[in-house]
Amino acid sequence: SLVTSHHLRHVESMSRLPSGCGKISHLNAIILGESLASEENDLVFPSPEFSAQALVSSPEQYRQMYKRSIEDPAGFWSEIASQFYWKEKWDPEVYSENIDVRKGIVKIEWFKGATTNICYNALDRNVEAGNGGKVAIYWEGNEPGQDGQLTYAQLLEKVCQLSNYLKHVGVGKGDAVVIYLPMLMELPIAMLACARIGAVHSVVFAGFSAESLAQRILDCKPKVVITCNAVRRGPKVIHLKEIVDSALTECAKYGVSVGLCLTYENQSAMERKVTKWQERRDVWWQDVVPKFSSKCAVEWVDAEDPLFLLYTSGSTGKPKGVLHTTGGYMVYTATTFKYAFDYKPSDIYWCTADCGWITGHSYVTYGPLLNGATVVVFEGAPSYPDSGRCWEIVDKYKVSIFYTAPTLVRSLMRDGDEYVIHYSRKSLRVLGSVGEPINPSAWRWFFNVVGDSRCPISDTWWQTETGGFMITPLPGAWPQKPGSATFPFFGVQPVIVDEKGNEIEGECSGYLCIKKSWPGAFRTLYGDHERYETTYFKPFPGYYFTGDGCSRDKDGYHWLTGRVDDVINVSGHRIGTAEVESALVSHPQCAEAAVVGVEHEVKGQGIYAFVTLVEGVPYSEELQKSLVLTVRNQIGAFAAPDKIHWAPGLPKTRSGKIMRRILRKIASRQLDELGDTSTLADPSVVDQLIALSDC
Ligand code: ATP
Ligand code: MG
Repeated sequence: SLVTSHHLRHVESMSRLPSGCGKISHLNAIILGESLASEENDLVFPSPEFSAQALVSSPEQYRQMYKRSIEDPAGFWSEIASQFYWKEKWDPEVYSENIDVRKGIVKIEWFKGATTNICYNALDRNVEAGNGGKVAIYWEGNEPGQDGQLTYAQLLEKVCQLSNYLKHVGVGKGDAVVIYLPMLMELPIAMLACARIGAVHSVVFAGFSAESLAQRILDCKPKVVITCNAVRRGPKVIHLKEIVDSALTECAKYGVSVGLCLTYENQSAMERKVTKWQERRDVWWQDVVPKFSSKCAVEWVDAEDPLFLLYTSGSTGKPKGVLHTTGGYMVYTATTFKYAFDYKPSDIYWCTADCGWITGHSYVTYGPLLNGATVVVFEGAPSYPDSGRCWEIVDKYKVSIFYTAPTLVRSLMRDGDEYVIHYSRKSLRVLGSVGEPINPSAWRWFFNVVGDSRCPISDTWWQTETGGFMITPLPGAWPQKPGSATFPFFGVQPVIVDEKGNEIEGECSGYLCIKKSWPGAFRTLYGDHERYETTYFKPFPGYYFTGDGCSRDKDGYHWLTGRVDDVINVSGHRIGTAEVESALVSHPQCAEAAVVGVEHEVKGQGIYAFVTLVEGVPYSEELQKSLVLTVRNQIGAFAAPDKIHWAPGLPKTRSGKIMRRILRKIASRQLDELGDTSTLADPSVVDQLIALSDC
């Protein structure tokens, strides 16, 4: 049978365990009858009440569904796909191709030949089902008190008007549209309007510079760029239209001229202010779009027609232009959303990610709306005007599912519990994390303080490339371990391979790869299919290579250990960054940590740790020693950092991920080789770190 893998056998054995209480319990180790020594191995059981109402309420139920998804992917996914509207159905014989590159070029296809429209499925289908009056989007502005909302019927009308306008100006099926907007309702509206008419959107995070925007415009040569005049982020006003102006000027130098720049007047930030307004090219959204009909026929597209282009965050280097198609992505984002968050129609869902990232595509826009969910879209910064803002929003909208990133969890944890406990948070029932491994101590804080030890945490491991969740807890289905992404989603076959590409069974650590394809997989890197194959399919022939390291424990739980490029080799011990960082962060005075390897005469590589301290804690030699000791005690002497470097701030991507490649250069003093820093959120931290090198 296909499903004999180690982790399933373990789930089976766990299914016989009694359900415990919702609190972290050391007793569970005894129940298991094994030596679960380290605190990461503590099991956190969902409450029986939670499990009883969950979509997947036991390991057995998961095991059955998973087994079916692997043994009969066509049947499994067809059944789910049939819940959507297809103009024409697929041929059941045509499914995904194998992703074995030894057999030739990689060509992944799902539901090929079927026609559908993702906007129709997200909006019209919900309105037709009688949910037109349900709130689709609650919008919360940067300033408390600034808000708005749209029902499904209203959202559909807005989308149709923009679709009609885009068609009117000549945008058709297959044409690219670049969207450079902040988190206004107009951002998902613009994405959906493109999807409705078969245009391909490329959303560029509205925090990127003119140069980064220009690169992305040059790549897909859009007919239209959609932006707004300005945005307020925290106390600052950022003039987005001016950034677009310079990007377009830059593009013109390379012979790419964009005919139309549709500019939304974002009054919440500032009134119309015409700077370099170019008549004919520049058009105010409000002057034209509302004049168009609020009904717009749908463009039916092939399941394999492109839906969007999106660049990866650029944590490891230059961002890659990932292309997703329509049918498989639709089915996959909707299904992963539903199960990983145990979604119920009464939920109010808030994901803090920006639509400029894949998380905002799959889990602000498409996944939730395809399920008819009510989504909170937040324009502002999570700690403005103070660190209690998130919980104020949770209480205001009665948010029941809250999905965020470890970087935010760590920063709110550093700011102190007062901000959290000031608010009720009673509505919360499921929490989620994405973007980086969540350190067990941050996990516990999120669980105990934010979720009052009541809400399961879905630590979702996935990538821009995967389109949707790959390894994730299903809340209520099985006990969790703080810091582990647990088990694969339906249809996903993760394997851990060694350097030679051999699969390793049982308890092990190595390179995380995926066998076979899944519906949400990306189909190519835009304009460079060869790079797609070389980067992802050639390193370990026969598998999709994720670039991440992973270990599997004896219970079959998956632990992401960090990027394989970042693995440190100390005297022959291969050490993932996540493990050492989590040990450091477990120190009560350490808020955040990033470790890198540096050359070491004796050990080959030594460990160099950058640490951010909890608010108000002074940096001292004593503290350095105690940090090193913590790692020694938790992991072992071989993992003890050789150097601790005080970091008031860490270099992060604009999506909040630590950029270790820059830290490696700082640690080895190769300051003229910092590389592409254009995706850094705050380049000034680099100078600060260099200045602190000798502390
Ligand atoms: P680039 O590929 O350009 O370097 P990136 O990999 O940061 O950028 P994304 O696709 O946004 O771009 O991020 C995916 C990566 O984020 C994963 O490969 C993994 O390293 C990390 N990641 C995401 N979620 C988790 C998680 N729950 N646990 C651990 N790591 C995660
Ligand atoms: Mg990546």
